[in-house]
Amino acid sequence: MDAVDKLRFLNQQTLLEPAEEAESAARPAGWVDPHRRAPCGHSPAALRAAFDSGPQAPALKSSLVRKPSALGIHQAALPGGGRLALLKTMLTSACERNCYYCPFRAGRNYRRATFKPDEMAQVFTQIAAGGAANGLFLSSGVAGGGARTQDRLLDTIDILRAKHHFGGYVHLKLMPGVERDQVRRAMQLSDRVSINLEAPTTARLQRLAPQKVFVEELLQPLRWVDEIRRGEAPRGAFKGRWPSVVTQFVVGAVGEDDLEILTASSYLLRQLRLARVYYSAFRPVPQTPLEALPAENPWREHRLYQASFLLRDYGFDLEDLPFTPAGRLPLEVDPKLGWAAANLTERPVELNRADRPTLLRVPGIGPKSADTLLQARRRGRLRDLRDLQQLGINANRAAPYILLDGRAPNHQPRLF
Ligand code: SF4
Repeated sequence: MDAVDKLRFLNQQTLLEPAEEAESAARPAGWVDPHRRAPCGHSPAALRAAFDSGPQAPALKSSLVRKPSALGIHQAALPGGGRLALLKTMLTSACERNCYYCPFRAGRNYRRATFKPDEMAQVFTQIAAGGAANGLFLSSGVAGGGARTQDRLLDTIDILRAKHHFGGYVHLKLMPGVERDQVRRAMQLSDRVSINLEAPTTARLQRLAPQKVFVEELLQPLRWVDEIRRGEAPRGAFKGRWPSVVTQFVVGAVGEDDLEILTASSYLLRQLRLARVYYSAFRPVPQTPLEALPAENPWREHRLYQASFLLRDYGFDLEDLPFTPAGRLPLEVDPKLGWAAANLTERPVELNRADRPTLLRVPGIGPKSADTLLQARRRGRLRDLRDLQQLGINANRAAPYILLDGRAPNHQPRLF
């Protein structure tokens, strides 16, 4: 197999988590299951032709940038608002661990593909030069131990940065068992680093991935990232700053409740300053110990994202979230709407006087629109729902829970 065929082959096998911000942000309305792949339509031969032909194949190249390709190129939204075409791939799909949910687990019978570091750096450089991707998300199965695997990942990015002078976006995975100096080196080379906790506690992880050690192998690297960011100047960092850090949980495979997941998320977001926690609703993979389990309801994943954003950006605490006695978020109600219905229906918020934390409790008002509203208040009073709409606020959503100049605004009640 040549390098392009290997990328294509890996992409057929790979269910890497949503990288950066794109997928979950798009879920509420026309949500597309990220585990269902859009067919590409570009053959490996056509891709090779595009890469080999330099700038003479603009139509094919621009179509590659628009679509997730057979190589694993995805459109991703960046935290600052930009977008990029991100090649999401692995250095190897061989793995010596046996995580119960994972298609790459040891002993599963299928063909594996492996890149050498310089080979991966070379093929990505070709893809980037052809205009099909301008960012790299690189993960790997564990082969020869976590530290040795991490060395190969680091070598790949080192070659990409130093030899091929790639200055674009890199999201690099940390392997279970990574060492502290390797974490620092990964931080120097990357825009984002991540390691997946997979489960919220040691006991839950034991049932999901018995060869992984929750605190020492998975949580400790996240703590090191935070220590390094707090305690060391980003000397030697490729872009002169430390990267962001994220993690992911598998949801719904081992009986964990939402309170457990969000308790862990709250710690990660507030104490270790993660940029984001991802949630991946469990889906059974054939030939794995969990293959007979039903898939988790994707709405649970969506509610966890909503609750996580309330913890991260809206000043909500765990106690504010409407958990059921079983520790689950109700699937049928947005947690912010649930809180507002219980707390603001009888005590609506006067938008002409409320401070920012109070504004953020109102459905339809987010961090950006709260700031816009505060600025608008310096210019004059807010009198009706049209004033709110002009500020980008979802006025109908906010209306049942607000006052404008002491009066409840007229609005069309929602029937559903
Ligand atoms: S270590 Fe990673 S690649 Fe290997 S089986 Fe576990 S989740 Fe899969």
